[in-house]
Amino acid sequence: MIEIQALNKWYDQFHVLTDIDLTVAAGERIVICGPSGSGKSTLIRCINGLEKIQKGRIVVDGIDLTAKAGNIDAIRQEVGMVFQQFNLFPHMTVLQNCMLAPMRSRGISKVEAEALAVKYLERVRIGDQAHKYPSQLSGGQQQRVAIARALCMTPKVMLFDEPTSALDPEMVKEVLDTMISLADDGMTMLCVTHEMGFARSVADRVIFMADGTIIEQSPPEQFFSNPTHEKTRKFLGQIL
Ligand code: ADP
Ligand code: MG
Repeated sequence: MIEIQALNKWYDQFHVLTDIDLTVAAGERIVICGPSGSGKSTLIRCINGLEKIQKGRIVVDGIDLTAKAGNIDAIRQEVGMVFQQFNLFPHMTVLQNCMLAPMRSRGISKVEAEALAVKYLERVRIGDQAHKYPSQLSGGQQQRVAIARALCMTPKVMLFDEPTSALDPEMVKEVLDTMISLADDGMTMLCVTHEMGFARSVADRVIFMADGTIIEQSPPEQFFSNPTHEKTRKFLGQIL
């Protein structure tokens, strides 16, 4: 589903990602962790074309991101993204938030878009909030709306960038439960998160990044019980 080869990215002179190779199969669940500033957000932003890459290749579901300018739009339609800060449109209702992208970029009718929105809002168990504005919802509810909004594009891959980091502790579980249920449905997922309970129970593979490279990757049992790299051990010591 995702094929990344020798990806390198710079922010001006700063070499933020170095020689990243990563292959993700359809239905695979990947958790990415690592210290702040290690390039996790940059990596997943590259996958849906939010960041330019200077070297290497990214192919999503057979579409080569860098081959043609139009491919960025094609990939964005297949890749849903959920951010730490929800990024809902504040002046639109929950329903309108979910209807916008499918109408604009898939060209579907208002009626169809509304039906899709209702379906996915119910999917994240928030159908009863459809006519509220984001500011009238709790953080956990807003994040579930953000997940529903991404699902309305019927993506093949979902990217999550620390989706629970901005939430009050009592709201973390409802968002993780939503993510677990997506995983149970077979969604291909890349999740940047430090929720190690989630990683243990859901991830097929845990990837540890430091200084813009992938230092180690392994199934969760091995990752937590027997990390091979000193940096991984240090990191786990700090967060567990
Ligand atoms: P993480 O998500 O792992 O915390 P980021 O991908 O956000 O890391 O950032 C990796 C590094 O790139 C950090 O040193 C950060 O300061 C830098 N960086 C991130 N975004 C930009 C940007 N737009 N311009 C310049 N440097 C950036
Ligand atoms: Mg980040």
